[in-house]
Amino acid sequence: MRSPDNALEVDQLTRVFDVSAPWLNRVIDRKPKRYLRAVQDVTFTVQKGKCLALVGESGCGKSTVARLVTGLYDPSEGAIVFAPAEKGANRGKPLEAQMIFQDPHASLNPRWRVGNIIAEPIEVFGLRDGRQAIDARVAELLRTVGLSPDDANRFPHEFSGGQRQRISIARALASEPEFLVCDEPTSALDVSVQAQILNLMRRLQDELGLTYLFISHNLAVVRHMADRIAVMYLGRIVEEAETEALFANPQHPYTRLLLQTIPDVAAPNRDRALMGGEPPSPLDPPKGCAFHPRCPIATELCTKVAPEVRNRDGGGKIACHLAPL
Ligand code: SF4
Repeated sequence: MRSPDNALEVDQLTRVFDVSAPWLNRVIDRKPKRYLRAVQDVTFTVQKGKCLALVGESGCGKSTVARLVTGLYDPSEGAIVFAPAEKGANRGKPLEAQMIFQDPHASLNPRWRVGNIIAEPIEVFGLRDGRQAIDARVAELLRTVGLSPDDANRFPHEFSGGQRQRISIARALASEPEFLVCDEPTSALDVSVQAQILNLMRRLQDELGLTYLFISHNLAVVRHMADRIAVMYLGRIVEEAETEALFANPQHPYTRLLLQTIPDVAAPNRDRALMGGEPPSPLDPPKGCAFHPRCPIATELCTKVAPEVRNRDGGGKIACHLAPL
């Protein structure tokens, strides 16, 4: 580890997917193999007990990073290094990240009672001995996330979307993790319910000393969750800074546009026009700076040369030819 304060260090992470048509079709159509660079040279750290948010439009690679960090995908290149766990069954071994998914409906087994769903990780990791101790722990976890111990006997479909996300959080906490990857955990919920779940996640972070990697397309959602924000565009981090610094003084043109397009109920249709249209396909990214076709201040240089990620005074990072350091 570069620093004992870090829970996670991600270095030059790249993930390439082979998205070629089947062999016979390629031969008949004389088409070459096609590769999608979903994540390219992504480097970041998450300090213990802090929350780093990865933010960007759909297709920017943020969910691929989440799946790489949780081991659902293997990296094509680069390294993912976790600090040693400080408690629980894995103490001394590298931390294992638990994941909270966007859609709690899809991630909870509909045929299992909630009590069994939450008890499974406790049994798998051998964290309690005997039925009574496991049931007591399930009841404690349900109370922790604002549900009733009696809810253990019910099935997921008997709950609202917000309550199902609480169940997902209880299940993620059941293995006593120190690191949670939260992939758009509130984007399938109504706005009023979103705030309740975000407040719950913040409280849990404080009480349990959790570290979060928080994935979202919405800067407004992460503002009150994240200590730092990394903005991704077409597989790369283009700006990273402390949350308040990023909101007060965004440097990358893409970050500025994202901030301007924070959803506004008074003007629900303005987003795409302001953003200069849809992002280009990651299968065929523009040459030079990938943002140049949508950038209001692009120069000749931007169309030819990709900007390097540079460290900024005060600790942030930026990848733009024209941004000051
Ligand atoms: Fe815009 Fe050029 Fe900066 Fe890219 S490098 S964001 S095109 S100014």
